[in-house]
Amino acid sequence: MEYAIDYAKKRRAFGTKIANFQAIQHKIAEMYQEVETSRLLVWKAAWRCRICGHVHYGDEAPDECPYCFFPKTAFIKN
Ligand SMILES: [Zn+2]
Repeated sequence: MEYAIDYAKKRRAFGTKIANFQAIQHKIAEMYQEVETSRLLVWKAAWRCRICGHVHYGDEAPDECPYCFFPKTAFIKN
């Protein structure tokens, strides 16, 4: 997304930067929305084992870590 913004600010067409076109601004806004949604989903659904660092994805922490076998209490929201 950062590259797309840089490019839109440099690339010129019809005598102006393409970043000035509303269609390009919409594309970049959609990109931002998708990137932020992905980041938030990962943050919301990831649990990390404090003992071995294993990352578990899901709404709930697992009953025990599949690597170090510590119980659920070892997991913290990532
Ligand atoms: Zn573990």
